[in-house]
Amino acid sequence: MTSPEWTEVLRKRLAAIGVEVRVQTFTGDSSYPTEFTLIAGSVRTFGEPTLDAALVSLIAELLKVAGQEPILRGCEFCGGAHYTGQRCPLSPS
Ligand SMILES: [Zn+2]
Repeated sequence: MTSPEWTEVLRKRLAAIGVEVRVQTFTGDSSYPTEFTLIAGSVRTFGEPTLDAALVSLIAELLKVAGQEPILRGCEFCGGAHYTGQRCPLSPS
């Protein structure tokens, strides 16, 4: 098991790279007494019983996003369309 002190260190490091850690504690008959949820931009995990498990879930979700096909989107500058990650030659920025 991860020690509480080490969990704190990991939470600070995750916060530093923009990953929000939400910890919920439950009493009663919930499946897990504590659930860790990680949120990185639009990617989030479900509640996991340990921070380690939540990290594995986050990596899996990020790999899914990284492996996605580029999406063709309409362009406001040239009236055409570009794939995500492409820059329009008419874009002023
Ligand atoms: Zn364009």
